Amino acid sequence: MSQLRVRFAPSPTGYLHIGGARTALFNYLLARKEKGCFVLRIEDTDVARSTQESVDAILQAMSWLGLSCDEGPYYQSERFDLYRSKVEQLLASGAAYRCYCTPEELEAKRKLAEQEKRKPKYDGTCRDRQDVPADRPYVVRFRAPQEGATTFNDRIKGAITFQHAELDDLIVQRTDGTPTYNFVVVIDDAEMGINLVIRGDDHINNTPRQILLYQALGYEVPEFAHVPMILGSDQKRLSKRHGATSVMAYRDLGYLPEAMVNYLVRLGWSYGDEEIFSMEDLVEKFSLDNVGRSAGVFNPEKLLWLNAHYIKTGDPQRLGELLRDYLAALEVNCDNGPPLSEVVKTLQERCKTMVEMAEQAACYYRSEVEFDPKATAKFLTEAQQPVFAATLEQLAGLEDWQEGAIEEALGKVMESTGLKFGKIAQPLRVALTGGTVSPSICLVMAVMGKEMALARIERAAGMLA
Ligand code: GLU
Repeated sequence: MSQLRVRFAPSPTGYLHIGGARTALFNYLLARKEKGCFVLRIEDTDVARSTQESVDAILQAMSWLGLSCDEGPYYQSERFDLYRSKVEQLLASGAAYRCYCTPEELEAKRKLAEQEKRKPKYDGTCRDRQDVPADRPYVVRFRAPQEGATTFNDRIKGAITFQHAELDDLIVQRTDGTPTYNFVVVIDDAEMGINLVIRGDDHINNTPRQILLYQALGYEVPEFAHVPMILGSDQKRLSKRHGATSVMAYRDLGYLPEAMVNYLVRLGWSYGDEEIFSMEDLVEKFSLDNVGRSAGVFNPEKLLWLNAHYIKTGDPQRLGELLRDYLAALEVNCDNGPPLSEVVKTLQERCKTMVEMAEQAACYYRSEVEFDPKATAKFLTEAQQPVFAATLEQLAGLEDWQEGAIEEALGKVMESTGLKFGKIAQPLRVALTGGTVSPSICLVMAVMGKEMALARIERAAGMLA
């Protein structure tokens, strides 16, 4: 058996979206599992729509997901000489011909076909044209067989047959000399030794045309695996209406790459009733055999559930490093203040996204507490004066600034004021964090450090009204 060679071949005309990322992931996993080669090829022959910005965005998203390639990125825009030589080869063998029909003529033919309720298809005017018009622009068309059928055995969908009568004489080179997708994808997949093409099933109609091109160019035909598309919860094709479709938008919303990978793989693939898969698990367990034939449905709640799982079980040190960027997005600088990993430990059980974590972590680093007016009105009242006074007294003398010791000190405040813990904790929480939601107040103080905690309680005590 020769080495498995797969590829991901995005067109750089936008961001890496959920569907593209899943295709990339399936290719990556299979390559890793089979000790094959994962090739990345940027399909930028459409010069007008391709941008460097999109290339960068796609590479950034792949790197965020951890999908490193073994070869590439190759750029089709750098391979035009090769494509031109292949056009010549097809022309020389008679497998392609020059077509001089003008756009107006083609439009008229299309309209006529429509009126006569025929499927619009090039009528072959130039197939055997002898009177070659001098100096007229032309496209190059592939001479598709008119009879017979092409069958291929899709690794996911099974045997698929297309009747040749259905096929058009595909344009392989446009009037401006640029080659078209169906043509270059064949040349590149063949020249790059790709032996399994895994891609979205929106390309399934292209496959028979591509197979005929492989044959005409004298290349071996690879295997194909067409992955079903992804739908929104309303069973319609996934689009912006269903929420963010760009992979990197999810990073900005506070999702971890491992949650995204875990989520993406389950959109179409299953392994018994298991739900949690690390990349290592997937490299071991992934196979096309368990990719379903029906469309996957995008479920944001499940993605959120997975994200919460990975935040809860994540390494605090690493999450701390990530938290730094999310805090920066809130314009909170965390150079001074408690170690990020300590802050993460107080929040990872309770936050479903890194954005949520940053919002709750911000209070540890802001030089001024940002008070929620409702919370202040309710809890920073004159009646709390004895609580604040007693707390300050108990805490000021505390040498051992640990959660347990702080808890004991607050126990003494309860005794001296005769109040239940909740009655003490909530005003203190507002004083320390500005709001009414936070981890255990003793833990918050321990992580915050004595100096900051006392300064904040003193400040709030001065605000009581
Ligand atoms: N550039 C094509 C796309 O982004 C890739 C098609 C293929 O994988 O063959 O849809």
